[in-house]
Amino acid sequence: MELLKETILERGQIYPNNLLKVDSFINHQIDPMLMAEIGKEFKQYFGDREVTKVLTIEASGIAPAMTTAFEFQVPMVFAKKTLPSTLMKDKVYSADVFSFTKNVTSKVVVAETLLNKGDKVLIVDDFLANGEAVLGLKKLIEDAGGEVVGVGILIEKSFQPGRQKLEDNGLDVYSLARIKSIADGKVTFK
Ligand code: 5GP
Repeated sequence: MELLKETILERGQIYPNNLLKVDSFINHQIDPMLMAEIGKEFKQYFGDREVTKVLTIEASGIAPAMTTAFEFQVPMVFAKKTLPSTLMKDKVYSADVFSFTKNVTSKVVVAETLLNKGDKVLIVDDFLANGEAVLGLKKLIEDAGGEVVGVGILIEKSFQPGRQKLEDNGLDVYSLARIKSIADGKVTFK
């Protein structure tokens, strides 16, 4: 998606360890016009499939998942990273997600009432690096008796093994910007 690639080149910042900081349009401040276009793009790609829900992880996945769900006219659910006291432990689906960027494993949870048997779920997330976040979401959906119909990613770091891992798990991954390398302070797309 040209608009996203241009925005990354203009406004993205490169940090040590191949980290791309996108705080001015995705991760802290959010560009709603860009998010609206992203929703339309995912609708165009996945539009021929039946989708009953869009699932993401708080917080950064929420904005693009929301515009995507709007295009499909279905609910958007976000997995929570902490277990709120209003959610009983035995009433949630949960999965462990290891973060290579933070070097910690955290639990993500979704209330059992929000994912159901027969749900056809489109997963949306901001970054794909090692694929752990998406595989955690896939587990939640399958624990509920639902099915993943596709994975929409904003920024794929193609030099990391995430895409391969997801494809090995039978998932169809559509990434809007695929980064081949981050070297010498420069982002190069595939
Ligand atoms: P994965 O689970 O695929 O290894 O990593 C996905 C998650 O790691 C994303 O949801 C995102 O929060 C975070 N992440 C991975 N790489 C980057 C990066 O370069 N920049 C930012 N801002 N987040 C990243």
